[in-house]
Amino acid sequence: MAISSSLPALAGAVVVVASLAAPISSAPEARPAIDLTDGPEGFIPPRLHPEGAELETRELASGVYALVSTKPGADNSGFVIGENGVLVIDSHINGAMAAKIQTAITTITDKPILYLVNTNYHGDHTFGNHAFPAATLIVAHHETARKMADLEHEKQFILATINNDTSVVADARLRLPDIQFDRHLSLDLGGRTVEIYNFGPGNTVGDTVVYEPESRVAWTGNLVVGEGTIPLLLEGRAARYAHTLARFAETLSVATIIPGHGRPTTGAILGRYMGYLGDLVHRVGAAVGAGHDLDRTLAETTLAEHYLPPADVPAGSPPARFRKFLIGFHRLNVLQTYRDFTVPEDRH
Ligand SMILES: [Zn+2]
Repeated sequence: MAISSSLPALAGAVVVVASLAAPISSAPEARPAIDLTDGPEGFIPPRLHPEGAELETRELASGVYALVSTKPGADNSGFVIGENGVLVIDSHINGAMAAKIQTAITTITDKPILYLVNTNYHGDHTFGNHAFPAATLIVAHHETARKMADLEHEKQFILATINNDTSVVADARLRLPDIQFDRHLSLDLGGRTVEIYNFGPGNTVGDTVVYEPESRVAWTGNLVVGEGTIPLLLEGRAARYAHTLARFAETLSVATIIPGHGRPTTGAILGRYMGYLGDLVHRVGAAVGAGHDLDRTLAETTLAEHYLPPADVPAGSPPARFRKFLIGFHRLNVLQTYRDFTVPEDRH
């Protein structure tokens, strides 16, 4: 489908992105993920601590299941069952959570877990790999596989998201992918094929979408993090992220999205994300063009109210906390996009 016909309101935003694509997309890869303890004032790292998180099994279609965390922030997962066996999406943050995934599966089927797909390299999606059966084949994008290899770096990186509680990741052991892919891979489960895609860089370079075509369910990892959210530019590059989402929307007609974090949503969120990113690039680009420094750009490029829960909610309530998170995410995105425009060595 053409973006311009299905999402007419976004046509302007997409044009803005396209006009900025050349210098930015020439970079071979995104910059390293920003240190989560080094974000702008107001940025709150994602809360990934699994304590108290249960994985709620939701049947989306025959043989297609979401595992949705009962604790906001902690990772979601899921699985698809074919005649020959099971495919799992993400292994969670440690062996204990990986065991919860496998327990949920065994209450539904006794078929073997043939494949485990990691949607990105971060520890909350990969540190449970080692707890899956030896016969399970781990599948990941080649950039995800490359970044996963630095286990110690990731164990440090993730501490800011788990209250510096090293016990959460104490059992992490390296288990690298058996199968790597570049753009697309089809995995046959027997009578059912699951499609694996990389549409380009997003939250990470190797962001992977797992798609079950019959039910039109997509698992999106960190590329799309759930109902009511905005993207998080962990590795910068708003314009490339928007192109990636456009490719996603052009390629698949998604009904349901099970995000790596947050509440399940629909394919319509892709329009919200692209609109947000187009607007971000446009506004930060204008601020840089006007000679504004970073502090002024952060102060003046506020997040539009239509991306936020209402302001008049009780302090400390879940919507109020979500609002603070989104405002913090946006400030990090402004910082990263400002760097895209102003740090020459980041461009190539
Ligand atoms: Zn994640």
